[in-house]
Amino acid sequence: MKLAAFDMDGTILEGRLVFTLSERIGLDGKVRTIQGDGKLAAHKKTAMIAELFTGLTRKDIESAVESIPLVKNTEQAMSTLKSRDYKIGIISDSYTAAASVVASRLDMDFVAANDLVFEEGVATGKVNMPMGWEKIDCFCRLSVCKRYHLEKHASKFGVQMDDTLAVGDTRADICMIRHAGFGVAFMPKDDDVKNASKNAVNTPDMMQVIRLLDATP
Ligand SMILES: [Zn+2]
Repeated sequence: MKLAAFDMDGTILEGRLVFTLSERIGLDGKVRTIQGDGKLAAHKKTAMIAELFTGLTRKDIESAVESIPLVKNTEQAMSTLKSRDYKIGIISDSYTAAASVVASRLDMDFVAANDLVFEEGVATGKVNMPMGWEKIDCFCRLSVCKRYHLEKHASKFGVQMDDTLAVGDTRADICMIRHAGFGVAFMPKDDDVKNASKNAVNTPDMMQVIRLLDATP
């Protein structure tokens, strides 16, 4: 048994859910301002963005994520991993309500993400952040510590860390990319992400991850 964890936005998906969602309600400018504010702590940004989505329904979120295309050959890469006895899943700082849609479409085994709080199907503006960095003293201090959730799911499925694969594109993925047995910087968005691993994929094609894996002794 092995395990592969994928970031969602910009890795499995060609776009980013919070942008698609906020564009639909005319609040994308606000989302970009919050995300670009260097003085705000990451968990504060997550809370502020969730608040902008107050009143949206679970269906609104599902339809937004369904409108974003998958990166080329994602289905093929996932079925290849499954045929090789991998447990596969998403570890995302987006929302469970969206990641679950993608995971179910790709027949995945697990999802870790921020949980928007819904009441009768309507977002309340609150969000539960799973964090995890405080438990393992990870430097990331993000709303979702991807390394923590990678380790947690590996242990749940009885997989050694050497047998884990982690794929992501942004700074939020660095702790998971560094600690996985095989970490891949997929279409890395800056040099820190690129430098997090000797394995990089620079074309938007998920099968390149499999080719890289196969080419590595
Ligand atoms: Zn972390």
